[in-house]
Amino acid sequence: MKRIYMDYAATTPVAPEVFRVMEPYFTEIFGNPSSLHACGQDARKAVEAARQGVARFLGAYPEEIVFTSGGTESDNFAVKGTAYANETKKNHIIVSSIEHHAILEPCRFLEKRGFRVTYLPVDSTGMVDPEEVKKAITPQTILVSVMHASNEVGTIQPIAEIGRITREAGVYLHTDAVQTVGHIPVDVREMNVDLLSLSGHKLYGPKGIGVLYIRKGTKILPFMHGGGQEDGRRGSTHNVPGIVGLGKAIEMASREMTEERQRLTGYRDRIIKSLQNQIDHIQINGHLQKRLPNNVNISMAYVEGEATLLSLDLEGICASTGSACSSESTEASHVLLAMHIPTEEARCSLRFSLGKWTTESDIDRLIEVLPGIVKKLRIMSPLYKA
Ligand SMILES: *Cc1c(COP(=O)(O)O)cnc(C)c1O
Repeated sequence: MKRIYMDYAATTPVAPEVFRVMEPYFTEIFGNPSSLHACGQDARKAVEAARQGVARFLGAYPEEIVFTSGGTESDNFAVKGTAYANETKKNHIIVSSIEHHAILEPCRFLEKRGFRVTYLPVDSTGMVDPEEVKKAITPQTILVSVMHASNEVGTIQPIAEIGRITREAGVYLHTDAVQTVGHIPVDVREMNVDLLSLSGHKLYGPKGIGVLYIRKGTKILPFMHGGGQEDGRRGSTHNVPGIVGLGKAIEMASREMTEERQRLTGYRDRIIKSLQNQIDHIQINGHLQKRLPNNVNISMAYVEGEATLLSLDLEGICASTGSACSSESTEASHVLLAMHIPTEEARCSLRFSLGKWTTESDIDRLIEVLPGIVKKLRIMSPLYKA
């Protein structure tokens, strides 16, 4: 059976073009970029070329790009790095309540060590109100972190507007742009951000490589203490193949993004419309317009998300539950709960995320198969009345 992959928000395959440019950097051009000899300098040239490409794509300077091991490290670096660099004077951090765990967990860590964290509410579409950011800022505030778009429900946040507020208050703004870089336009100047995270494996690059953009002048501690690589901000020998691959993935995105965005938006809206027409008691989670082109997130009453997922899997369709679907309300998605989706529905959400190799016939297959699965599962539900 042909597999249909609809979980691009979890990870993407490496594009063949990306894989090809990486290959020589494992075997032939294997030098350490910090070595002064020619073998090292060939590797260094590739690293610096990738850095320039990434910088250009984001509207940044090459010196503002730090290569990391991925989105999780970049998020940890941004939060802990700015917190500890400024702790003698200030102790307050503001984040949205729907951030990825790579932001929320460092915040919980810091709370145990004397920092204060404000978790901003969101509305029913998962949107942060910039006015709430303004209200939360105190003279003690070091950093605000609001993700560019939600990996779960796809809602795109008004980062530029939040950035105008943080600039005026003299507070740093970080955004987790792991789901948006390479998919929708991202420009660090237009967005008024001081720090931005991205990850290779969410845009057809390899796993284990990411970037933290750090605006010039931002006070931040190094994340890894070591050989002084990345201008002393992140020790460790460069992941040269990963960096080269990320550079290629970004170069490809800069050419393909506009067209791809249109194509996937069409698929997305077709899925939403068709499922709404065919399935009753269905809810679309997240903002309907300010939304990632490739994200569909639904809740359907009287069916378990997990049961639906397994039935889809038997049909060869790989999707994701927005959340674990057990009787424990604590296991419902923190994102959906923050959006005040009733716990019952929050426990039963499904996410379909589309990408480069999604075809029209994949969409046909999904909207042909899912209504039947739901119907079957609901027959077994004692609560359901058609
Ligand atoms: C995937 C993801 C991360 C983590 O990135 P890794 O490279 O897997 O560590 C962080 N934030 C968001 C929004 C993500 O989707």
